[in-house]
Formats: sequence, C-alpha cells, structure tokens
Amino acid sequence: MARELSRRHPRASVCVLERESSIGTHQTGHNSGVIHAGVYYEPGSLKARLCVEGARELYAYCEARSIAVEACGKVIVATEPGELGRLDELERRGKANWVPGLRRIDAREIEALEPHARGIAGLHSPETGIVDFPAVAQAYAEDVLEADGAVVTGCAVEGVREQGAALRLLHSQGATEAGHAIFCAGAWADRLAVAAGADPDPRIVPFRGAYLRLKPARRELVRALIYPVPDPALPFLGVHLTKHIDGDVLIGPTALLAGARDAYELSRLRREDVRDTLAWPGSWRMFGNWWRTGLTELRHATQRSAFVRAAARYVPELRPEDVEPAFAGVRAQALARDGRLVDDFVFSATGRALHVRNAPSPAATSSLAIARHVVGEAEQLFG
Ligand SMILES: Cc1cc2nc3c(=O)[nH]c(=O)nc-3n(C[C@H](O)[C@H](O)[C@H](O)COP(=O)(O)OP(=O)(O)OC[C@H]3O[C@@H](n4cnc5c(N)ncnc54)[C@H](O)[C@@H]3O)c2cc1C
Repeated sequence: MARELSRRHPRASVCVLERESSIGTHQTGHNSGVIHAGVYYEPGSLKARLCVEGARELYAYCEARSIAVEACGKVIVATEPGELGRLDELERRGKANWVPGLRRIDAREIEALEPHARGIAGLHSPETGIVDFPAVAQAYAEDVLEADGAVVTGCAVEGVREQGAALRLLHSQGATEAGHAIFCAGAWADRLAVAAGADPDPRIVPFRGAYLRLKPARRELVRALIYPVPDPALPFLGVHLTKHIDGDVLIGPTALLAGARDAYELSRLRREDVRDTLAWPGSWRMFGNWWRTGLTELRHATQRSAFVRAAARYVPELRPEDVEPAFAGVRAQALARDGRLVDDFVFSATGRALHVRNAPSPAATSSLAIARHVVGEAEQLFG
C-alpha cells in the first residue's frame, strides 16, 4: 500500500508504522511461498481477479528487482472418483479466471510431471511458482524509502483518534498525525479497525499452520508443487507438498485453531486472544459446524504419522521417517458473527481510514494488485 501510495502521490508524505523490529515477520514471512495462479477462486470474486493480475505483476516485479522466483508449475491431484466432480469445478473456475496454461491431465501425465505422485486425474498449472516473500516485502520497503517515504519499525499502534481534519495514531513511540491511514495489521486487523470505530464483524481468529520438511535425502520425492483437491466448503487448500525457493520441500500446513495470534509455538496462549475468540458468537457456530474437521486437524497437529499420511495419499512412498519439523505460520482467519469463514478479501472504511479486514491466501501473491485496488478506493473516498 505504501509503495503504491508513494508512486501515485509523490508529494504525499507516506509513513509505515510497523510493530515488529523488521517487516514481513508475521504471515508474509511464515507461509508456503507459493505464487498462486488463480485456480481456486470463485470467478468474479476479488480474490480471483486480484490473484491473476497480482501473480503476473509479481513475476515482472521480481525479475526487475532480481528477487529469486521460479515458475515451477503445480499439479492438483485427485486420488479417488469422489473427487472428480470437485476437480471439474476447479477446472471450470480456473478457466473462467483465465489461469494461464491450465489443463486437465490424466494419471500418466501426473507421473510424468511428478514421478512419485499418484492419482487418477489432475490439473496442471504451469504458471504457479515460488518466491521468497520476505525478500519481496523488503524490496517494497526499499521502494518506499527511495520515494522519500519512511518505514518505522518497533512502533506498535495502540490507539486511533479522529481530531478535526487529522487522524492521530497513538503508538509505542508517541503519536503520529496523518491526513489518512490505511490499516494492514494482518492477525490484528479487527482490533485496529474497532479502535478506529469500525464494526467488530468480522473478527480475526488465529489458525496455526505447521509445516514439516522432507529430509534432504528425500527431496527427490517432489519436483515442484503437489496439491490435493481441496474441500470447497473450507478456505484452506489441504496439506500440500511445496518446493521452497531455498531448496527445502515443505509439507503442510495444518490448520488448527490457536490460542494466540502469534502462536508460532503450539503451546503459546494469550489471554486476550483466547477471550476474543471465545467471546465471539461466530466461534461457537464455527465449532458446531466444523468440529469433525477440527478433530482431524488436531490429529495432524499432534501426530506426525497422521500428518504424513494425509500427504501420502498422493505421494505413497512418503514415510514419517522422511520428514522433520519445519516452522509454523499463523493464519489471520476472518470469522463472521454468523460463523461463516470469510473467504474473499474484505476492505472497509471509517472516517479518514481504510481497513484491510481480511487478506488471506493468496494475498501475498496478489499484493501489488491489492495495493492498486485499495489505493484506488482510498482516492475515491478521500479525494
Ligand atoms: C500458513 C500460511 C500459508 C500461506 N501460504 C501462502 C502462499 O503460499 N501464497 C500466498 O500468496 N499467500 C499465502 N498465505 C497468505 C499470505 O501470507 C497472507 O495473506 C499475507 O502475507 C498477508 O499479508 P499482510 O500484510 O496482510 O499480513 P502480515 O504479513 O501478517 O502483516 C501484518 C503486519 O501488521 C503488523 N501489525 C499488527 N498490528 C500492529 C500494530 N498494532 N501496530 C503496528 N503494526 C502492526 C504486524 O507486525 C505485521 O507485520 C499464507 C498464509 C499462511 C498463514
């Protein structure tokens, strides 16, 4: 957002206030590192449009800025006849979204692309790729500095007040006055939006996504990116195998409701975060609707063999002894009051501010396109 603002409005004074000591340390620095091509998303949704545009722009940006990136391609594998209807729907969505090069493949072609994967049918998306998202975030910050903007780290915004023609942001280093602000606080988005006077709906509930990695000697099991056919009712893509730009092959993530918005350790609990989750009516509706899925996720999070078995459905040679623990990310899942897991990007406004209320995957892929969209909205709203 800051990069887009400073490019479009070179005379504006643009300042990023970041709580942590460096940028990109939360979701942007703890994810699968995949540039999604736009296969999954409902045609016509913001997610679909901003993903396809954003992926194209991100490849061009990485090339221009010499950031490591690889369009390694991905296969989505159906392993049983019951998944074929959902694969058809993914193919329909991907084609409607103009995903470049997307095509249906059969069992033989799955093996030709990924010799250790097994399935009865699949989709191949040659333009899905991998990148180092923290390096991308760092490059965006450098663009802001080059345009005479400021990036202030270690600066936690704690309060928001409207004062006449200005917005006063109270933070851990004092206060900053701004004409306008765009809030992009990830897992803390709802708190800052509410502090600025927005509706509490949707609330953010944290889902911990843990990864395993293949031991180096077993990396040959995966050439690029192998995904299952996801459950269309859930905003998660299922346990996948992904080559990382640094050569690691990751397995994951799990999706376990967490006790803290920064639950990088499974045991981390924060009273305020637990209270916010439990006090939200949507959480109880979500528990009622999804408790079975929750138990499966709990098993994946606590038993390595169950987690590995989920991936071995489509890479049968995979064994628990082939893997070791990697890292975990925490997904900022927006949850509506009625229990709906909000799937699309959500942006909203209060007085002098715009709020990014839900920027789930593939928001890292879509970052350049989201910025264009949101800054365009800000121009219309604020003149
Ligand atoms: C497990 C996992 C896997 C994913 N895989 C992919 C993928 O492969 N491809 C993809 O495109 N997307 C993926 N995503 C999604 C993607 O990572 C996120 O959508 C994206 O990074 C969101 O960026 P953000 O800037 O909104 O949030 P974040 O990166 O979480 O940044 C929010 C920032 O706000 C700061 N902040 C919060 N509160 C305050 C405050 N009070 N004051 C100051 N600063 C504050 C935080 O410190 C943080 O730096 C994945 C996400 C997860 C969790």
